[in-house]
Amino acid sequence: MTQDPEFRKTKIVATLGPATATPQALGALLDAGVDVVRINSSHGTPQVRAEWMDLVRRVRQERQRHVALLVDLQGPRIRVGALREPRTLAEGSDVTFAPEDEARETEIPTTYTALATDVATGARILLDDGLLVTEVVAVAPPRVRARVVYGGVLKSNKGINLPDVHVSAPAVTDKDREDIALAIGHGADYIAVSFVRRVEDVHAVRSLVPAGVRLVAKIEKAAALADLASIVLAADVIMVARGDLGVELPFERVPLAQKRIIELANLHGRAVITATQMLESMIEHPRPTRAEASDVANAILDGTDAVMLSAETATGTYPELAVQAMARIIREIEREAPDGRRLRQRRRGDRLGDGPATVDDAIALATCAAAEILAVPLIVCFTKSGFTARKIAAFRPAVPIVGFSTEAATCRQLALVWGVIPELAVRVPNYDAMLEGARERLVARGHARPGDRIVVTAGVPFEVPGTTNLLKVETV
Ligand code: PGA
Ligand code: MN
Repeated sequence: MTQDPEFRKTKIVATLGPATATPQALGALLDAGVDVVRINSSHGTPQVRAEWMDLVRRVRQERQRHVALLVDLQGPRIRVGALREPRTLAEGSDVTFAPEDEARETEIPTTYTALATDVATGARILLDDGLLVTEVVAVAPPRVRARVVYGGVLKSNKGINLPDVHVSAPAVTDKDREDIALAIGHGADYIAVSFVRRVEDVHAVRSLVPAGVRLVAKIEKAAALADLASIVLAADVIMVARGDLGVELPFERVPLAQKRIIELANLHGRAVITATQMLESMIEHPRPTRAEASDVANAILDGTDAVMLSAETATGTYPELAVQAMARIIREIEREAPDGRRLRQRRRGDRLGDGPATVDDAIALATCAAAEILAVPLIVCFTKSGFTARKIAAFRPAVPIVGFSTEAATCRQLALVWGVIPELAVRVPNYDAMLEGARERLVARGHARPGDRIVVTAGVPFEVPGTTNLLKVETV
């Protein structure tokens, strides 16, 4: 096993925000162990977000760390418009929603002009992550009158969820197109697609991004659960987006939905992120609740590749402590409960027997088996696009996977993948030269000692992505 006591297989995604958008604060997050930085396009101006993207690139460069930049699109999210001041919605009273261009002083402006054509009497309109609940009593386009079921204070720009309604808003909005261009222009490694309803929504964004940018499909609508297998296959990464999922679905359905999404992502070799409210109380407190510690632990036991922090790091009081808390929980669970992983590995091996097996699946499974039988401290893989490393990670081997790539972008993307330590390799002509370079690096980084045996896998020739066909046992 690598000598690095900080080593974790489960990765940490942290959302950048006003609390952390300085070189010092972001540097502290990376030092605490953040592998992926998320920038949420729902907030801030394009100019501010562009500066933040540049900041991420600068800080990771200074620290010589492979950290992925993930830009999350707002998608067809409906919001409350600008309110002059926060408004108290009293239970039992009626409120009127109107498109923001036409809303009168007493009405609640919305960013969605088709609200009145989408909803019918009896539909629920949920505000602010479902904390405020209203029910439609009358529709008079473009206005909607609703009775407040659970009231409270409503502020500007809060999200609106319509769980009973088929929303007609397009999957990719004009704002999304602008935000995609901005993200690509500023070097995003991942782009996250929000409110995916159908597999076509993933395809729509795919057609707008270059091949090297990988897509995260956020599962946060009931409709997406109905079409989950094809969405998982169409995306590169899946996010269990529990914030909106828990409003769109009854919240009691979220735990099993999480398990099902993670299991399917594992089965198809897609990385999966478990997101939202993982350490929510740490927005205000320096310690997590026991329920939160258990939640992070259970996502790891479910088989997630990464766990995510949102407001905890974007606007919270203790962003660095939140990352440290996550890292502590991950290390403890990985040290004390490795058996679940072995089980999954075997289960996946069994399933492989049922379907049409591919050469790369067979090599990846054999790599993990050889590593276990020979008790090697790590697996080395040479991977141009990251394909080989992801294939091996999908089998959840007991030891770290050191993924050498000549592409810095691949190294950054692999930072999200369970169990993978990305290392940038210099371009060399053949396997022997590649191995020699790897040996030196492994020793220099403390991943292995001279004399250690390692299992090495690659796709040869290196320049052709998507072929894993080589398995060797070497000595460092
Ligand atoms: P969001 O997505 O933070 O962009 O809303 C995550 C979620 O809904 O859980
Ligand atoms: Mn969401």
